[in-house]
Amino acid sequence: MIQITMPLNFLGTVYREIRQSLVDMGEMFDLLEQPSEVSDAKNAKDLVVDGGAIELENVVFGYEEARPILHGVSLKVGAGQNVAIVGASGSGKSTIGRLLFRFYDVKGGALRIDGQDIREVTQTSLHDAIGVVPQDTVLFNDTIRYNIAYGRDTATTQDVIEAAQAAQIHDFIQSLPDGYDTMVGERGLKLSGGEKQRVGIARTLLKNPPILLLDEATSALDTETEQDIKEALALAGQGRTVITIAHRLSTIAEADRIVVLENGQIKEEGTHTDLLARNGRYAQLWQRQLAENDAA
Ligand code: ADP
Ligand code: MG
Repeated sequence: MIQITMPLNFLGTVYREIRQSLVDMGEMFDLLEQPSEVSDAKNAKDLVVDGGAIELENVVFGYEEARPILHGVSLKVGAGQNVAIVGASGSGKSTIGRLLFRFYDVKGGALRIDGQDIREVTQTSLHDAIGVVPQDTVLFNDTIRYNIAYGRDTATTQDVIEAAQAAQIHDFIQSLPDGYDTMVGERGLKLSGGEKQRVGIARTLLKNPPILLLDEATSALDTETEQDIKEALALAGQGRTVITIAHRLSTIAEADRIVVLENGQIKEEGTHTDLLARNGRYAQLWQRQLAENDAA
């Protein structure tokens, strides 16, 4: 019996680890679209997170030699700060997210978390430190509890409830006749876009990552849902370092700092109020979105 149980336990652990890495990959595929091209350094140590401060120092990067995308981006995000990156489509916003995950190495400069160059830490520890709220949460044909806890077999019911509360979906779940045992997905209860997104937030929060990376969906949720999600995300970001890659400026007006990326460089930086007063690129983007909202 013992001889059988031990290898099974071992396989169970391996299976869980593989499944966990698949969850993380799934999350990253939504945001980042590409698999990793890098491997751990020989003497890679685990990242030691102390607050989750992020620093980009003169980061230079291009996917192809001939076409640089980031031309020397320097940005400091203090521990617990909430920084939004805005800019036209193709300006390199999501690329910064991909570099933070180290899907690619920078071509020049450095990217550090709490002072540690991310090229010198294990990718597992790096990925553990960063939670991604995907644009589109994949639901499995299983219970809502399973969907929130997915890949984290050690999560207790209490953990799941706390994550759901933080994502502001607990009350909704409790209102269902079967509560957390409600079947969702294609063969179960169909959740709305906003509800699915909150399940995604809860799933990410269960991991309790010190850093949150949000790459907002371009496809608009309706304004009411957007407002709800915005609240849920603000709550989720408490006590964490948050980088939001924003398309809709209305969701980031309260960020500690907004960074405007243009042609692979930081063009402007400041609070929403600062940037409006400056009447530059950000103010222009803001006016344009107001006009679009009015038209819609
Ligand atoms: P944003 O998120 O600001 O819209 P991205 O960071 O996704 O922009 O992309 C910046 C530029 O890099 C775009 O011109 C895009 O086409 C290009 N790009 C993105 N991914 C790749 C890739 N895997 N290979 C080559 N070019 C890419
Ligand atoms: Mg993008």
